Amino acid sequence: MDKWNTRATIKNTTFFSTFFDKTKEGKTFLSYRMKRWIVVISIHLLFFLSFAIDIQALEGTLNGSRFLGFHLIDPFTTIQVFLSTYHMPINVIIGTSTIVLFYIFIGGKTYCSWVCPYGIISEIGEKIHNTLINKKIIKERKFDHRIRHVFWFMFLIMAATSGYLVFETFNVVGILSRFITYGWSLALGWVLVVFLIEVFFSRRAWCTYVCPIGTTYGYIGKVSALRVQWNDNCDHCMVCHDVCFENQVLDLTKAKYDKQREEKGIKTQYVTGADCTLCGRCIDVCHADALKFDFRLKGLV
Ligand code: SF4
Ligand code: SF4
Repeated sequence: MDKWNTRATIKNTTFFSTFFDKTKEGKTFLSYRMKRWIVVISIHLLFFLSFAIDIQALEGTLNGSRFLGFHLIDPFTTIQVFLSTYHMPINVIIGTSTIVLFYIFIGGKTYCSWVCPYGIISEIGEKIHNTLINKKIIKERKFDHRIRHVFWFMFLIMAATSGYLVFETFNVVGILSRFITYGWSLALGWVLVVFLIEVFFSRRAWCTYVCPIGTTYGYIGKVSALRVQWNDNCDHCMVCHDVCFENQVLDLTKAKYDKQREEKGIKTQYVTGADCTLCGRCIDVCHADALKFDFRLKGLV
């Protein structure tokens, strides 16, 4: 991807080219997208190998696992379990606390882009979706992303009133995670339906409007120490907006805030929106070196 000589938007770059980035001098290096894909695939390879040949490194699925003996439990699963059984085993408390603490440091929704297997499938769907829009085969449809909070409550109310983890029937993340570890099931048909909705109906609809797992990590991410940091090299080209499916968090890149910033002498700002998945796509495409990852607590380390 040559962001220095072309406007590297989601529409005019090939999917393959987004796995590599270039310095101004033309040196090629791995983009954050490539690094994320390597991390997601490695995590799931560990799940698979731990079950298939018993290497016992990462046992279980994304709902609940053991990494080298340490319990790790997805926080949304924990809330559902508690509401449906009114019981909280000690291992679940330990596993959930470990995950919550981890994501407070490295960013709540980091899970969505660096761990979730559906995330990378959704990125492929996003590319096909945008190509179809470009060719005017389909229309772009956007809804209010805050609907995800309604889904979050709805799935919890269902767990509390039915005594079952109702969301797990629809959970594309859990279905994929179980498929990778234990083998295929008919539930994969639902994953295909969601994928097709994202391709033909609305860009990254599951992640943007529905997934309560991502929403829970978003709540944790409000206090995250790892952030994307913007600086005033920015020329407001808006390419970062184009590639980000949660681009409401990149509002600060708009020129209209410059006057306010100049008056206050502000040269850098953090992307603080809880919806940022720290995927690094905006950093990959920024041609002005105006974005980077920054650890807010580095002064304390
Ligand atoms: S941060 Fe970079 S990509 Fe985003 S508007 Fe500014 S210059 Fe463009
Ligand atoms: S702001 Fe950047 S890092 Fe955050 S979700 Fe958007 S593209 Fe990814």
